Amino acid sequence: MKIPVARPYLGEAEARSAYETILTNWVTQGPKVAEFEERFAAYTGAPYAVAVSNCTTGLHLAMIVAGVGAGDEVICPSMSYIATANAIAYVGATPVFAEVDSATCNIDPDDARSRITPRTKAILIVHQIGMPADIAAFRTLCDEHGLVLIEDAACAAGSAYMGKKIGSHSDLVCFSFHPRKVITTGDGGMITTSRKDYYDRLRLLRQHGMSVNDRVRHLSTTVIIEDHLEIGYNYRMTDIQAAVGIQQLARLDWLVEERRKIAFRYLGAFADIPFLRLPREREGYFTNYQSFSIYLDHTCTFDRNAVMQALLDLGISTRRGVMTSHRETAYQERCAGLRLPVSEDTSDRSIVIPLYVPMTDEEVEYVISGVRAVLGFA
Ligand SMILES: *Cc1c(COP(=O)(O)O)cnc(C)c1O
Repeated sequence: MKIPVARPYLGEAEARSAYETILTNWVTQGPKVAEFEERFAAYTGAPYAVAVSNCTTGLHLAMIVAGVGAGDEVICPSMSYIATANAIAYVGATPVFAEVDSATCNIDPDDARSRITPRTKAILIVHQIGMPADIAAFRTLCDEHGLVLIEDAACAAGSAYMGKKIGSHSDLVCFSFHPRKVITTGDGGMITTSRKDYYDRLRLLRQHGMSVNDRVRHLSTTVIIEDHLEIGYNYRMTDIQAAVGIQQLARLDWLVEERRKIAFRYLGAFADIPFLRLPREREGYFTNYQSFSIYLDHTCTFDRNAVMQALLDLGISTRRGVMTSHRETAYQERCAGLRLPVSEDTSDRSIVIPLYVPMTDEEVEYVISGVRAVLGFA
């Protein structure tokens, strides 16, 4: 058997939708993008949604509308995909790396609080591999210190916190539709916001700062001469992507339920391995299990990379746990001397195991018995 670590779920509906959109001749920033935005906003419960080319460009625009610029500091977890920190660096601000809570892999509110300085402008929290961060704690922290709260929800489409979908809790929430996430448009992203002023500026910035969009100009019966109101970007989503996204969104709740069924089987099957720490949803937290990460604690005598190799030898693909940004070459110079022991340990001892839809019973059982065998619990 050969089992990948992840796989997008794409079918006839997505293919047909892309095909039909191509034949309409409107292939970017058009009616399908508008429809996808409306549906995504309705799904999350956010008043507004703005489609962008990917989550990283979405985070970049979020930084701009939040007023983050040169000289500012933004607190974020180091233990995240590196794009989290990069979006802060794009606007000339400094990512200030905070520790995570090792049980959730999410940014630790107390550690974040200790890193606030007079230059701190915002806190960028991450719902790591789909598990919501403690939004309420960060809301309080940001309100106390006059900071902007931004959510990197790249992995968290379909996750929920305190009974409400991720996307509905704060002013700037950025999602990814990369194939490694729960739903995909090839590449793509979405920003949800509750603020009309942010919504207007985000729409401007993603399309070169143009005062009218192509659809309005196209539908107008009078000549419109556009202006470019500020230096913007080309961060558009295409209608072909949006057409796929509309179909993927229709499947999202089902995909999440299927992912959770597999996750619950893993949780049951590995519960007796004493040195294994498994993901756990605290009260009010609902994860889409974008990834399933297991942690080998300090009583485990097996080397993490050796476990990954042994699983690969069985045909079971895995990935290292979520990376730490401060140890990547791109940040080493800026972060010289920075030690984040919890993040480093959690990253170095974690393994992401296969979870995708559809995963057959045989595949799930094969992963379970493979992991148990490699860890000496055959
Ligand atoms: C995937 C990911 C991103 C980047 O998303 P793209 O759509 O590829 O730009 C950013 N942050 C986190 C936490 C991610 O997992």
